Amino acid sequence: MSTTVHNYVGGGWRKASASDSVPVTNPASGTEIGRVPLSSRADVDAAVQAAKQAFPMWRATPSPVRARVLFRLKALLEEHKEKLAVQLTKEHGKILAETRGEVQRGIENVEHACGVPTLMMGDTVEEISRGIDSASWRQPLGVFGIITPYNFPVMIPLWFWPYAVATGNTVVLKPSEQDPLTHQRIVELAEEAGLPEGVLNVVHGGREAVESICDHPDIVGVSFVGSSDVAKIVYTRSAAAGKRAQTLGGAKNFLIVLPDADMDATLDACAGSIFGSTGQRCLAGSIVVGVGDAHAQIRERLMDHAASIRIGDGLEPTTQMGPLISGAHRDRVRSFIDKGVAEGAKLSLDGRGATVEGLEDGYWIGPTVFEDVTPDMSIGSEEIFGPVAGINRANSVEEAIAMMHANRYGNACSIFTNSGRAAREFRYQAGISMIGVNIGVAAPMAFFPFGGSRQSFFGDLKAAGSDAISFYTDQRVVISRWSTAPPDPHNLPKS
Ligand code: NAD
Repeated sequence: MSTTVHNYVGGGWRKASASDSVPVTNPASGTEIGRVPLSSRADVDAAVQAAKQAFPMWRATPSPVRARVLFRLKALLEEHKEKLAVQLTKEHGKILAETRGEVQRGIENVEHACGVPTLMMGDTVEEISRGIDSASWRQPLGVFGIITPYNFPVMIPLWFWPYAVATGNTVVLKPSEQDPLTHQRIVELAEEAGLPEGVLNVVHGGREAVESICDHPDIVGVSFVGSSDVAKIVYTRSAAAGKRAQTLGGAKNFLIVLPDADMDATLDACAGSIFGSTGQRCLAGSIVVGVGDAHAQIRERLMDHAASIRIGDGLEPTTQMGPLISGAHRDRVRSFIDKGVAEGAKLSLDGRGATVEGLEDGYWIGPTVFEDVTPDMSIGSEEIFGPVAGINRANSVEEAIAMMHANRYGNACSIFTNSGRAAREFRYQAGISMIGVNIGVAAPMAFFPFGGSRQSFFGDLKAAGSDAISFYTDQRVVISRWSTAPPDPHNLPKS
């Protein structure tokens, strides 16, 4: 059954004015399960006006009362966790264990945002001058635009909007047009939790909706996650319109293995990082660099493991890796593999011909492994966003770090070692924002900031953690003199 998705504006589901729409498919079967409107500027404006109208009421709602709505949402998300995970597998394709994990990570952000009365506290200093005190108050700013990608359609919107609304702002969310169905259900749950009309609005669409959000004079700031080229456009376009912006982009993550690492645990971590979610994570490992003797050890284990991965429908309990999101993305990943071969890398495991019996129309690519990948090759420099690994050898950690630094991205990286000294040195030299030490997916939890550096991130305040509170508020500093007769310092006690 195909569901037509509507926008959510001012507390009601509204048909978009746009006549164009795109399909949502189950990536395991290629079957259409929904249609998403490509909303127009007028649709975005309607959502912004609803959000603008709701702002004074919501801002005036005491922060503990706002937090209570989120507490109720957290409870509802927990109650519906399994159903959400199943629905998410149907529209995204990743396996049930992964969608359960994603829903859990989303809930943790709602949970963190529940602490808003404490998180929003300002600073105070008494007697900054004689009889004068100073305090800062964190205040919400108005309507925020939030634009999210397809790869974590439950969790990534929850990196943003719970914090934005907890701090007293109102929101226009533009989810990915490729898999927006599960988050529709979360919006229904937010309504059930008591989120008043107009506080959270959803507009579906693609480029026109995104550009309208960047340009709209009544939107004060934009949070974005997606590929780096679009992240840069959204960052510059939003800034040109006078808004604050945080835009998280793509990645090419290196996993560096030292000879003293525990190789079996390292294999589990690296394989999970590279092939988990079919490689469609911004924290996915892309190039494994074995230093010295580590190379042969990790290479052999990774090759064996990759060849044994069972692909299939993510709802089947025996499936270890699901399909890619779409036929277009599968073709893009295939063309990267073609280019890797043409550019001279050694293709040691080829996933291009993969298929699943009974699901031949699914968007399949099997685990793929290249060796001898150099930074000038497209598979060595670009984000592939599929289950494709490169395995390289370096003579030293310094050489491995130099390979990593030859890349324009700076989202995540990991080192595998039993040496605290090597790990410390790596942390110091990496120059990359999310660092794993014996961890394959270095994902900060909700109370730490999430985001990269270099071409993986544009802005300064990242997603979640205390950065989210700073991004969605302005610090208003008040300097007060209430004392009519300031004390004479010469008469003050000595201590
Ligand atoms: P994408 O850039 O294609 O789309 C992201 C959003 O931008 C979507 O809502 C989409 O509708 C919109 N969009 C797409 N093209 C646009 C254009 N030309 N102009 C304006 N808006 C446009 O990204 P995706 O394919 O949905 O997601 C995968 C990407 O997201 C990967 O590059 C991945 O690394 C990145 N990502 C990054 C992080 C992070 O934390 N840095 C997290 C998750 C995903």
